[in-house]
Amino acid sequence: MPRKILHDLLSIEDARKLFEGIDVRTHVRPIEIERSTGRVLAEDIVSATAVPNFPKALKDGYAVRSEDVLSAIEKPVSLKLLGFSPVGQLPKYRVGEMEAVEVATGGPIPEGADAVVMVEDTELQEGNVLIKVAVSADENLIHAGFDIHEDELVLRKGSRIWVREVGVLAAIGMRNVDVRSMKVGIISTGNELTVPGEPLGPGKIYDCNSYSLYASITDCGADAVPYGIVRDDREAFSGAVDRAIAECDLVLTSGSTSAGPDDFMFNIIEEKGKVLAHGLSFKPGKPVVAGIINEIPIVALPGNPTSSLMVFYEFLLPLIRRCLGAPAPVRQVVPGVLEEDVNSGSRHELHAVRLEGNKVFSASKTSASITTLAAADGFIEIPAEVPMVSKGAGVEVVLFEDVCR
Ligand code: AMP
Ligand code: MG
Repeated sequence: MPRKILHDLLSIEDARKLFEGIDVRTHVRPIEIERSTGRVLAEDIVSATAVPNFPKALKDGYAVRSEDVLSAIEKPVSLKLLGFSPVGQLPKYRVGEMEAVEVATGGPIPEGADAVVMVEDTELQEGNVLIKVAVSADENLIHAGFDIHEDELVLRKGSRIWVREVGVLAAIGMRNVDVRSMKVGIISTGNELTVPGEPLGPGKIYDCNSYSLYASITDCGADAVPYGIVRDDREAFSGAVDRAIAECDLVLTSGSTSAGPDDFMFNIIEEKGKVLAHGLSFKPGKPVVAGIINEIPIVALPGNPTSSLMVFYEFLLPLIRRCLGAPAPVRQVVPGVLEEDVNSGSRHELHAVRLEGNKVFSASKTSASITTLAAADGFIEIPAEVPMVSKGAGVEVVLFEDVCR
C-alpha cells in the first residue's frame, strides 16, 4: 500500500469550518432522571403539578389565625388546641376564631389558619396553647405553587441537566426525561494496545483513548459505544468500521492516521466513503482524517492520547453539542504571565499549561504523553504564524471546562 504523506494540512480556520459544516443525526430517548446528568433536554419541561401542591408549614408549631394573636406582643394569648395535623395527610381540622392546630414542618396548613407560630414561642396548657409572640399573615408557611406553579416552564429544551436539575425533575414527579442523544462509536487501533486490567506484555501499552474518549463523549451528553481494540489488520479494521458505521451516528477511531506502513485509516475511509480532510495544521493532533461513510461522519483521531483529546476538545466537542442542540461551550479565560519560553511550530497550537496564581507553566511534555492534560488547567493558543512565546509574556489561559465547574 502506498504511504500517504500529509502534505496539504488544513488551516485551523478551514478545519473549524469543515467541522461546523458536518451534521450528525440525533435521537430522542427517555432516560431515568438519576442517570440524566450532562444530558441535553429534548423538550421544554412544563410542570404538571404545583410544588408544593398544598400550603405547607415551614416550622414545627401551631397553625393559627394571625389576627387572633396580634395582642401577644403585649400579653400571651391562649388558643383552643383542636389537635395535631401530621405530615402527609389532609388536615382533619379547620381553624376557627381563637383556635389552633399543631402542625409539623412540611405538613399541610389547615383551612382557616394563615400563619404558624414556632413551638419555641408557645406553652402547652390543658386543652389550650399559650401563644407568646405575634405573627403576621403567611409567617412560617408557603403557599401552594410557591416553588413551581402548575404549568410552569421549569427547564428549557436544549439546556443540560446537572445535579440541581435532577432534583427539580423529581420534585415535579418525573421518573424519566426525554433527552436528545447520538451514538458515538469508538474504535482503538494498534497491535500494541492492551485492555486496562489485563497483564501488560512486552512492548505493549494500555489503551487510553477508548476510555478518555468514552468519558469525553459522555461529558458532552452523548452515548458512547465502545468497539474495543482492533489489531493493525486491514480486514479486522474494515469489519469494525462497517459495524460501527451501521450502528452509530458518528464514529471516532484513534491511531493509524499517520504515514506509517500500518496507518491505513485514510485508505479505508477513502475506499468506503469520502475523505473530507487528511491532516490538520493543528498541534497536538496533525494526523486527523475526517470523512463520511454512508452518510455517517467518521473522524480518525491521532493515536497519541494528548493529541486525540485536544482534537476532540477543539473540533468534536463543539460539533456534538451543536448537533444535540445544546449551548456551545463557553470558554473561560484567565490572564497570566508565562514563566518559561514556549517554542511552537508552524501549526496552530493549543499548548497545555498549569496555573499557579497568575503564573503560567507549560504542562506539555510531548503529545505522546497522557499526563500532559491531566496536569494542565487549560491551554494557551499559539497561532500558526507565531513560532514562540517568551518567558514574561502576558498570555490568556483558556480553562478546561471541568476546571471551571
Ligand atoms: P499511531 O497513529 O497508530 O501510529 O499511534 C501513534 C502513537 O499513539 C503510538 O505511540 C501509539 O502506541 C499510541 N497510541 C495509539 N493508540 C493508542 C491508545 N488507544 N491509547 C494509548 N496510546 C495509543
Ligand atoms: Mg497504531
